[in-house]
Amino acid sequence: MCPGGYLSIAAVDLLAGSECVGCHRPGPALCGDCGARLHGPPFRAEPSPCPAGLPIVLGVATYAGVARSALVAHKEQAKLGLARPLGQALAVSVLGVLAAHHGRGARVAVVNLVPAPSSRRTVIGRGHDPLLRMTKECAKALRAAAVRTSVRPVLAAARQTRDQSGLTARERAENLAGAFCVKSGRRLDGQALVVVDDIITTGATASEACRVVGGVGGEVLGVAVVAATAKRCT
Ligand SMILES: [Zn+2]
Repeated sequence: MCPGGYLSIAAVDLLAGSECVGCHRPGPALCGDCGARLHGPPFRAEPSPCPAGLPIVLGVATYAGVARSALVAHKEQAKLGLARPLGQALAVSVLGVLAAHHGRGARVAVVNLVPAPSSRRTVIGRGHDPLLRMTKECAKALRAAAVRTSVRPVLAAARQTRDQSGLTARERAENLAGAFCVKSGRRLDGQALVVVDDIITTGATASEACRVVGGVGGEVLGVAVVAATAKRCT
């Protein structure tokens, strides 16, 4: 989609009237009833098999129904009004990661949210960066809950990768090995990080993202997602 494309879609929404992506009733892009299905509580969402080195993963929904409709509409149809409720859902998962970390007796002063990288070509193709938009809304929700939060989009694609859809878990892991890098060779020494993504499937993306930020000194507390595909080991 061209950079102006999502503006055109937004304009069409305004002219035609909006409806909920979950139940299709006229009104906001996600009505209160459907939005409530993304409020949690968060659950363990590690895939099965779990990639080596993948830390705790928390999500609030299975990738189906309202969650799937909202994520697809936000990402592929640029329904930007969904960024806030999806970001709030992501915040519930981040709070779950922090609660698990605090349960181990450790507290963090500032939580740094690191979005899993999208390829630049994908972002340009969509005309917007849906995960970064969601992450910024997530940070607002966390700050409103008195959690000191910083958005740190430090990861980038180091090389082109194959489209992940249709690949097996092993193929995804191979496709992503060494695929990410830290922008400008930054160090993240001692910084408490939560890797965030919209969906977790095989965990290959999250696992590689965690490995890379850990390799430059970051302390990865866990992974927070909105939705997990149904196959999980917990
Ligand atoms: Zn609805």
